[in-house]
Amino acid sequence: MTMRKVGLYWFNNDLRLHDNANLSRAALEVDDLLCIYCLDPQSLMPNRYGLATISPNRLRFLKESLIDLDRQLQKLDQHLIVCYQTAVKAIHDIASSYQVSYIYRSRHPGYYENQQWLALQKQLPLVQFVETDTHTLFAMDQLPFPLAKLPDTFTQFKNSVAQLSVVKPMQAVDFLPPNPKLKTDWLSRFPDYSKSEHEVFFSGGETAGLKQLKNYFASHNASHYKKQRNELDGWDNSSKFSSWLANGNLSVRQICFNLNQYEQQSGANESTYWLFFELLWREYFQWYAHHHGKLLFTFRGIKQQKPLTSFYPERFQKWCNGNTPYALVNACMKQLNKTGFMSNRGRQIVASCLVNELAVDWRYGAAYFEQQLLDYDVAANWGNWQYLAGVGADPRGKRHFDFEKQTQQYDPDGLFINKWQGGIQNFQIDSVDAADWPVIAE
Ligand SMILES: Cc1cc2nc3c(=O)[nH]c(=O)nc-3n(C[C@H](O)[C@H](O)[C@H](O)COP(=O)(O)OP(=O)(O)OC[C@H]3O[C@@H](n4cnc5c(N)ncnc54)[C@H](O)[C@@H]3O)c2cc1C
Repeated sequence: MTMRKVGLYWFNNDLRLHDNANLSRAALEVDDLLCIYCLDPQSLMPNRYGLATISPNRLRFLKESLIDLDRQLQKLDQHLIVCYQTAVKAIHDIASSYQVSYIYRSRHPGYYENQQWLALQKQLPLVQFVETDTHTLFAMDQLPFPLAKLPDTFTQFKNSVAQLSVVKPMQAVDFLPPNPKLKTDWLSRFPDYSKSEHEVFFSGGETAGLKQLKNYFASHNASHYKKQRNELDGWDNSSKFSSWLANGNLSVRQICFNLNQYEQQSGANESTYWLFFELLWREYFQWYAHHHGKLLFTFRGIKQQKPLTSFYPERFQKWCNGNTPYALVNACMKQLNKTGFMSNRGRQIVASCLVNELAVDWRYGAAYFEQQLLDYDVAANWGNWQYLAGVGADPRGKRHFDFEKQTQQYDPDGLFINKWQGGIQNFQIDSVDAADWPVIAE
């Protein structure tokens, strides 16, 4: 009698069935399949920045994504298993107990996620590890340069990939091998989080992501995208795809395909091109993270340049709470805390404030964004922060924004500041001066 081939599919930032080449491959290769997601309880504890890695709002979005994924899997007589353990331990134990011979996952840009993958390969030498690019527009072997020669700037990268074509997205799998009888009641054990405080604009999951994709291209917003994308607020001013993209609820190739269809039907213009251009930025940061590994998280960044900043707990706290001497910054931070989202313009402004005005180590800002942003993506977040802090891929050095000018341009009537209650309550950055004397208000 021949042994049944057992596969383990490790879901990560690819929580979907559509355009999932890995899952399609697993469906063809193995006789039994275990669909696993791992939530490390450590991510709810304070990290080296004193912050939990995942906010309650992010946890909510993740839970909704997992429930939706489980529902999609159940339609194919499969189901999801969520383990509340470190991924290496959970996957090692399941793979050993169920004689798994294949482990699948989407290629991940994160250094730590890649360390986990390598650790598992070491621990399970007889298992075949399969990794496919499903988080990016291009596959690694499509790139016209070896990763070690990734261009130093976005413009060079954009020019070098200009001739590449984006592979057509795959249909959702319509068949999956059965599960070899492992079932857990993961939903009842999902970590608790308080629901009350957040305004829910984004619901997690493939179903919600595909709905936004459809709605966005059913409107004409893409034809006005270039001008509108810089607005500080407003659902229609940018695509809002990012949270679903970050969790893999949406495939970036699927977005590109729908964008092309839209251009064929409604006409291509500078705006529709610009949406693709932004997806190329995302793409650049994905390969940037792959290439630079651990350097993505270091103070000196990839430039190995020491920023003139330090750590001031009080300033950092005030920045997080939206209680700085800068109304525009406060409004943006309050918007983030309430919704889990901030516009691209807002992100640039608050990052510039933290680094230039408050002189705080940029990594604390990146860690706070990691906690709060529903669209947190390791590559896009840390890559953009490095760029703004002047230790990343920006050929011009760090960016310093003039808040008054930004306010005049993007919030001339103060509507945004009013809406998010950015009013200044505190004109001092510090409550004690460098010699530890209380600062006396003038
Ligand atoms: C300091 C800082 C931190 C950021 N952290 C993240 C993050 O963790 N996750 C994240 O997805 N984006 C991040 N961004 C990029 C950008 O702000 C968001 O992708 C965008 O605002 C999301 O809104 P949207 O989907 O409506 O974007 P749209 O303007 O509609 O753009 C479409 C898509 O293009 C991509 N994109 C757009 N701008 C960028 C950019 N500058 N870098 C990389 N990709 C981009 C996103 O995938 C986005 O969904 C960060 C930017 C800054 C300045």
